[in-house]
Amino acid sequence: MELRDPVTVLKGLGPKKAQALEKLNIRTLEDLLYFFPREYQDRRDVKKIKELQQDQPVLVRGRIELIVKDGYRYGKKQKLRLLVKDEDSSMEVIFFHAGYLSKLFEKGVEYDFYGKPSVQFGRLQMIHPDFARSEKGQMGRILPVYPLTAGLSQKEMRSWQQTVQELIEQIEEPLPEELLQKNRLCSFQFALKNIHFPEEKSPLRQGKFRLIFDELLTLQTGLLASRQLASRGKTGAVFDRKVDILEYSNTFPYDLTNAQKRVIGEIVADLDSGRVMNRLVQGDVGSGKTAVAEIALYKAVKSGYQGVLMAPTELLAKQHYNGVKKNFEPFGIRVELLTGGIGAAQRRRILEELADGTIQILIGTHAIIQPDVRFHKLGLVITDEQHRFGVNQRNLLQEKGENPHVLVMTATPIPRTLAVILFGDLDISIIDELPPNRQKIVTRAFEEQEREKGYDFIFSQLQQGRQAYVVAPLIDESEALDVKSTEALYEELSVRFQGYTAALLYGTMKQKEKDEIMERFYQGEIQILVSTVVIEVGINVPNATVMVIENAERFGLAQLHQLRGRVGRGEHQSFCILIHNATSEIGKARMKIMTESQDGFYIAEKDLEIRGPGDLFGTRQHGIPDLNLADLVKHIKILDQVKAEAKRIIEEDPFLEARKYKGLRENIIKLFGADFTLKL
Ligand code: ADP
Ligand code: MG
Repeated sequence: MELRDPVTVLKGLGPKKAQALEKLNIRTLEDLLYFFPREYQDRRDVKKIKELQQDQPVLVRGRIELIVKDGYRYGKKQKLRLLVKDEDSSMEVIFFHAGYLSKLFEKGVEYDFYGKPSVQFGRLQMIHPDFARSEKGQMGRILPVYPLTAGLSQKEMRSWQQTVQELIEQIEEPLPEELLQKNRLCSFQFALKNIHFPEEKSPLRQGKFRLIFDELLTLQTGLLASRQLASRGKTGAVFDRKVDILEYSNTFPYDLTNAQKRVIGEIVADLDSGRVMNRLVQGDVGSGKTAVAEIALYKAVKSGYQGVLMAPTELLAKQHYNGVKKNFEPFGIRVELLTGGIGAAQRRRILEELADGTIQILIGTHAIIQPDVRFHKLGLVITDEQHRFGVNQRNLLQEKGENPHVLVMTATPIPRTLAVILFGDLDISIIDELPPNRQKIVTRAFEEQEREKGYDFIFSQLQQGRQAYVVAPLIDESEALDVKSTEALYEELSVRFQGYTAALLYGTMKQKEKDEIMERFYQGEIQILVSTVVIEVGINVPNATVMVIENAERFGLAQLHQLRGRVGRGEHQSFCILIHNATSEIGKARMKIMTESQDGFYIAEKDLEIRGPGDLFGTRQHGIPDLNLADLVKHIKILDQVKAEAKRIIEEDPFLEARKYKGLRENIIKLFGADFTLKL
């Protein structure tokens, strides 16, 4: 057995199971080892039946007094009931549709049951518990619980994990000894062993700490090293201090807000400083980030440089292009659009004119980062809705210029504490003010059973000629299921709103199809857009006035806020309808926050404050690779420790060339993917 062996070398693991494992990205035994439990069940503590509390998973040991099968004769439909008794009380154990299990139980014998007790008709029950004969089996320990997918059971996963434990010895320690000592870390082998099968809670804690530390260190050194690489041996573009930006901003049909003015001031100071700008502009949806970007572009062009603005989708790029072109035309500034959808001949012409400097501002999608796109003198790079781009893509774009100034814009309101980490050495500007006269989006929360009220509301808006978004959440890990449930919703709505056109949009659709549907929605040919969460960020359909969010309790607050920002963009009063199943206090509190506040930063802070475990602050959105155990919010203290260490390492060895950092280098490549521009 070797680490690199495919999982199928394990006994009893055939092609079918291998396929299921593949869905979890587990192909080799090594992958299996790095597949960590989601939680643990402490089965050391046997509880007495009379002490049981509802809904707390516990281990109970008792003798089987009675075995009863109810219902149809056919084994499958039968309900199996066991009467289980310990010294002084009894409970019922029930398995539905599982009469066939009866042969696993023997009257008069003692069994262990692990499950959540409940009370039904005054009787204490446990439904579908895990079980084993008392003297053997997996009780009496701390058991790992893995985040599995269909076709896999905890039991078999545990047994495979148990088998591959012996491979841990072959794994080399990735971090240098001195670093371990300084940070009081246990060995990597110890950590791996204890993350799967801890005997006690304290080694589990130690092991977990070590693995989280590694992950954060890998992330942080990776980011630092890549930034180091991006700016190696380059001097920044120097812009012309004499450019009068008022010439441009005076053409706006409105007055800039104070927040916009302040942020523009910060940007201009960077551009005039001779240093390379590296700035993140955060501003809530509708705060007017585009105007700020345009001013920076104006300054670049007037200083003799080219500027580029990259958007995450074709539609968004087009939208920017139309606006920016109109504003720059009076100044005789050439603006072009480059997306994947542009024909070969036109593309060739654009590339030529970019290379000779005729085109002064280029707007586009990631089509811009293709290797054959070359600029004459690129001085400013702006990415809009930056969280949709990976670190890697941002770096590629930057490399097209001689160390151009970089402006990154995002509407995702990230609390400052977190932003500093996510964006490392970027300076941060915040547009914390909306233009005056912005309409308030009336937000209402309806419980599931009141959904008709929400629908009546959509109807009245449709009758007035408005359009609506209906968004359904990711319900399952599997996209297929989501699409299905969204499809059902789409069909329901098509019937409910006859006479109006509905369309369905989901993530795995081809970009072209998505763009087409968005375009038709934009043109008003579609009135109801049903979608999973793919609604393009920053999209602007002023006639859409209703945002309905289904299963709103499943969304993070920040995300709800983002979605709500899709409406309220035109002259008409807009509405956000949250249809939810929130039962917990927290869930209800979250709905309340949404109906009460429209301040993205306030909402984001609250989101962090009250979000329950597992409700992750999607790091991928911020261009950070998926982390396994580490959580940038929960582990902020560990992160502080890691940041200092990462900084020291990169100062000592900027490209991680020393032998002692070999393991760290390998981890970075693993985490970011082989095409990461680290070129380590
Ligand atoms: P976002 O920050 O979400 O990208 P936009 O830049 O798209 O926001 O701006 C949203 C709308 O607000 C646009 O129609 C824009 O013209 C308008 N706008 C921007 N700044 C102001 C302002 N200071 N006063 C009034 N309207 C503004
Ligand atoms: Mg925008």
